[in-house]
Amino acid sequence: MDRLKKRGLEIHLEETASEVHPKDRILLTDKGKYQYDDLILAPGRRGFSFLQDLMKRLRIPFIDHVLDIGIRLETTIEQYPIVKDYYDPKFLFPDKVRTFCTNAFRAYVVQEKYLTASGDPYYSVNGHAYSSKRQENGLVNFALLKTVMFTEPLASGQKYAEMIGLQAMLLGGGRPIMQRVGDFRLGKRSTEAAFTGDLYFFEPTLHCTPGDISLSIPAKILRGIWKAMKLLDTIVPGVLHPSTIMYYPEIKLYGNKPTFIDPYFQALPHLYLIGDGAGTSRGITAAWASGIRAVEGILRQGNSQG
Ligand SMILES: Cc1cc2nc3c(=O)[nH]c(=O)nc-3n(C[C@H](O)[C@H](O)[C@H](O)COP(=O)(O)OP(=O)(O)OC[C@H]3O[C@@H](n4cnc5c(N)ncnc54)[C@H](O)[C@@H]3O)c2cc1C
Repeated sequence: MDRLKKRGLEIHLEETASEVHPKDRILLTDKGKYQYDDLILAPGRRGFSFLQDLMKRLRIPFIDHVLDIGIRLETTIEQYPIVKDYYDPKFLFPDKVRTFCTNAFRAYVVQEKYLTASGDPYYSVNGHAYSSKRQENGLVNFALLKTVMFTEPLASGQKYAEMIGLQAMLLGGGRPIMQRVGDFRLGKRSTEAAFTGDLYFFEPTLHCTPGDISLSIPAKILRGIWKAMKLLDTIVPGVLHPSTIMYYPEIKLYGNKPTFIDPYFQALPHLYLIGDGAGTSRGITAAWASGIRAVEGILRQGNSQG
């Protein structure tokens, strides 16, 4: 950081970008107004709505018709021992269902808060693992996600995600829903008892609402995921242990996919949109690579003008 500051970088934290005036090359935030030569916006998944609203106002064409919806499974390492050999095993199942983002040994499920365009909160679950400095908890979690793509009519993935999130909030009393596999197989909702009684085997790392995910998750998505779970249990027998917990919803937006005017992610002259929020990445490596590509675009433009 010091090295960057010495090279003239100014860092403004706790400051929210609100508006861009591309003709005058001005960026407005909640704390100030900045003149820019070139502007790169990378607001991530959390800034999905901000970017979408901005693109609508600036008439930048975009589509957002693809998203991933699913559940996060949490179980013990003994029931999913494959992680001892492959930390993040990727399995691709029929119906566009796949495993994603495995966390093991010191693993926790978390809830992330999102806001709809009208400001209503909803949650998506996610997974974390602590570094080796923390004590092991013997647990593993990973997502099983189904990719959904809207064609005709070309619906908004963002809006669909919000509806799914709000419905889960309604059924979960304002929290994500968790259900033990044992209850799910019997077609019963989980209750607090399922987390302490017969099905108890380990403590959930995210204490949310015991319930019935099949009341909330769309049928086609649930069918695909259940089929994938049964197939996964033939590869790693034990993962469908009755104590395994299914957390819902896990929602991953693919990004807004703006129409760029060059291969350097320039959406309007001198305005570059990159990262998870702009659909140029879905992970850390592609996110920083997008930044490098945008900067290369700016340098090329500078060179050709100079
Ligand atoms: C729990 C979790 C686990 C993950 N695990 C992995 C993994 O193992 N491997 C992997 O490759 N990827 C992983 N990812 C994804 C990875 O973190 C992202 O792909 C990457 O960080 C995207 O980078 P980005 O710069 O586009 O956005 P971000 O890193 O999200 O940064 C965007 C920033 O912009 C801020 N922002 C939003 N709107 C505004 C605004 N209007 N004004 C100012 N600031 C704003 C946001 O608050 C945020 O700080 C994980 C993500 C999560 C949440």
